[in-house]
Amino acid sequence: NGVLIVGDFMTQKDELHVVKPSTTVDEGIALLRTNLSINSISSALLIDFNPTALEILVKHRITGFPVIDDDWKLVGVVSDYDLLALDSVSGATRSDMDLFPEVDSTWKTFNEVQKLLSKTDGKVVGDLMTPAPLVVRESTNLEDAARLLLETKYRRLPVVDGEGKLELKIGDRKLGGKAWSKTTTPPSLV
Ligand code: AMP
Repeated sequence: NGVLIVGDFMTQKDELHVVKPSTTVDEGIALLRTNLSINSISSALLIDFNPTALEILVKHRITGFPVIDDDWKLVGVVSDYDLLALDSVSGATRSDMDLFPEVDSTWKTFNEVQKLLSKTDGKVVGDLMTPAPLVVRESTNLEDAARLLLETKYRRLPVVDGEGKLELKIGDRKLGGKAWSKTTTPPSLV
């Protein structure tokens, strides 16, 4: 009847990256310390490690993950802001963080990045995620989901089934679009 639903737009299974509460935030910190540009390490990471949350973010150019348990039950969401502990940088607001993508070779920036990363050293996703996130169903009207995104300013709404399990869209049914996190410009980490 022409009404668009979340299921028409949600990210498909093969493009959806999920993490567990036990996923480490970053084992690549040592690498970052020897590289002034996050860009230059994005391909160097991911080779030998178990992928960490930050590595997956950088590699796939996404801005956050649903966090699931072993049964695919949604237990939280974690975004780049959580993973980089950006909220806990003193005096920083989210708009200040527009500076962050301009990682350059100045020591000032380098030290800022180091400071950020040291906060996440040794942490796991479960330490930083937002538990019990706001969710939608596959059958939710796209308009309602869009309104939620606008009102809450969240950049993602996990899609769950009646049991709270992450809904997985398999194959390209209709539009094959992405409701997940691609609606706003992510802070360019990469
Ligand atoms: P973001 O959506 O990436 O801008 O995330 C901003 C903050 O909101 C982070 O602390 C996230 O963990 C949290 N967050 C993101 N999406 C949701 C959601 N659907 N429900 C609850 N919290 C969320």
